[in-house]
Amino acid sequence: MPRPVFHEEKCKGCELCLDVCPMGIIVMSQGFNGKGYHPAACVDETKCVGCALCAKSCPDLVIEINE
Ligand code: SF4
Ligand code: SF4
Repeated sequence: MPRPVFHEEKCKGCELCLDVCPMGIIVMSQGFNGKGYHPAACVDETKCVGCALCAKSCPDLVIEINE
């Protein structure tokens, strides 16, 4: 089962990955990372289809898709 893994300390909160997810399961976290940004996160990994669009959209290579 595919699972998106977010390296949240690298996230700059640009929100680019939110709109590309066909399942709408990426949101910005309430908390802050070490850089002072709200990092992106997946709210329901069970719905991930492994398309990797989120990973490809991220300019900072925050997201990996684990199979
Ligand atoms: S791999 Fe696809 S379905 Fe899964 S979180 Fe990323 S964009 Fe969404
Ligand atoms: S595209 Fe990358 S840097 Fe931008 S919010 Fe998403 S995970 Fe963070």
